[in-house]
Amino acid sequence: IQVQLLSQQYATEASLQRDDNSTTDTGSGQSFKGHGMLAPFTPGWQIADVNPLVIEKSEGTYLYDINGKKYLDSLAGLWSTSLGGSEARLVAAATEQLKTLPFYHSFWNRTTKPSLELTKEILEMFTARKMGKVFFANSGSEANDSQVKLVWYYNNALGRPKKKKIISRLKGYHGSTLIAASLTGIPALHQQFDLPVPFVLHTDCPHFWRYHLPGETEEEFSTRLANNLENLILKEGPETVAAFIAEPVIGSGGVILPPATYFDKVQAVLKKYDVLFIADEVICGFGRLGTMFGCDKYNIKPDLVSIAKALSSAYIPIGGVLVSPEVSDVIHSQSNKLGNFAHGFTYSGHPVACAVALETLKIYKERNILEVVNNLAPRFQDGIKAYQNSPIIGEIRGIGLISGTEFTDNKSPNTPFPTEWGVAAYFGEVCEKYGMLVRVSGDTITMSPPFCITPEEIDEIIRIYGKALKDTEQRVK
Ligand code: PLP
Repeated sequence: IQVQLLSQQYATEASLQRDDNSTTDTGSGQSFKGHGMLAPFTPGWQIADVNPLVIEKSEGTYLYDINGKKYLDSLAGLWSTSLGGSEARLVAAATEQLKTLPFYHSFWNRTTKPSLELTKEILEMFTARKMGKVFFANSGSEANDSQVKLVWYYNNALGRPKKKKIISRLKGYHGSTLIAASLTGIPALHQQFDLPVPFVLHTDCPHFWRYHLPGETEEEFSTRLANNLENLILKEGPETVAAFIAEPVIGSGGVILPPATYFDKVQAVLKKYDVLFIADEVICGFGRLGTMFGCDKYNIKPDLVSIAKALSSAYIPIGGVLVSPEVSDVIHSQSNKLGNFAHGFTYSGHPVACAVALETLKIYKERNILEVVNNLAPRFQDGIKAYQNSPIIGEIRGIGLISGTEFTDNKSPNTPFPTEWGVAAYFGEVCEKYGMLVRVSGDTITMSPPFCITPEEIDEIIRIYGKALKDTEQRVK
């Protein structure tokens, strides 16, 4: 198909329209152009030229901006507001805890009841294998940074000081602190930040559609990737490789599902060379895929697990690390020798965050969240996949309540649209114009609606998606 050039300016057409609205007819009259926030994942030209979308209020699956415009939040914030925007019970849990004990830490064997209760609850909920301990952090990035420290501490305790390298995957997303950004296999997070750090290695992205060889089956593709992983471990020396980190389904990298037999084959390789498996469940955890954890879906038996986001339905920052009994036993005995386990944050196990998380998990159970997700998933997945034949869509991927649409020319992974055409960005902007927020990553758009979404709201997602697709097809022709 012939493609008309889309410039950065076209891609921000809808934003600019929002800009006009906010200063004219429906607008609040306020302009925030050139605001003082060094905003995450936002280029300077946008801050200078385009009014930010300022969200003021949420209600169930909907958000409202300062001009009163309503948006369907198809991404649940950042894959996180699993119970939607107006869950009164979470507000009550936070308020109650703030009144009783707004803060106390968990250092030096002093702690609080909500953090202990939450620990117990998380350990009971994670059944892919038995886990031994939970360490609390404040975010997914902090959880993943902590993972690397725990793995190093563990290997030092075992007298294996050289076993320190961590392998992650291209297109995997693990956060943006120094180590988490290094683990992330997306070049933009490394560029000009002098990352990744040298002890982090990246292996293949398990994206079958994009990377399989002609005639290769999913199983053969998985075998090839597992062999590449084994060769990487052998090349580096197994005595230097400590851990492998993976999201069960890659989220921010574009919703990439593992090909058949992938995790079985990868786990066999890791076992052979005594390399720990860190499952990054920050997006997949707590029902997103239709199982409580991504590990349940793909039969992963991890040594360590990272959680955040839906742990508190994002109402308050909290993250955590689950540690297997084998690893935590070693950490405990080493800390006895040293007289300390010198790792933790002021807000590790913050009582308000733990109280909110505890209530979130209680709601998941009471409402049978897995049944909810599995009942909604076919309507969502089939509705979006009905657009698979669009000439500008290469692949639609998804499972449970998570979905990604990759735009390419000729329906082929080998003919991407030129970056400067901003095809996915245009689609995202048109969705915004029609009252729906999606995530744009490169030429993929992603969605992961809250679990409180109704069937009618799913239909609305699909309707807006269809309209935005039509507009984008007309632009790209
Ligand atoms: N891990 C995964 C899989 C994520 O998707 C994210 C964030 O999107 C993180 C880690 C980092 O979490 P945070 O942004 O809370 O630091």
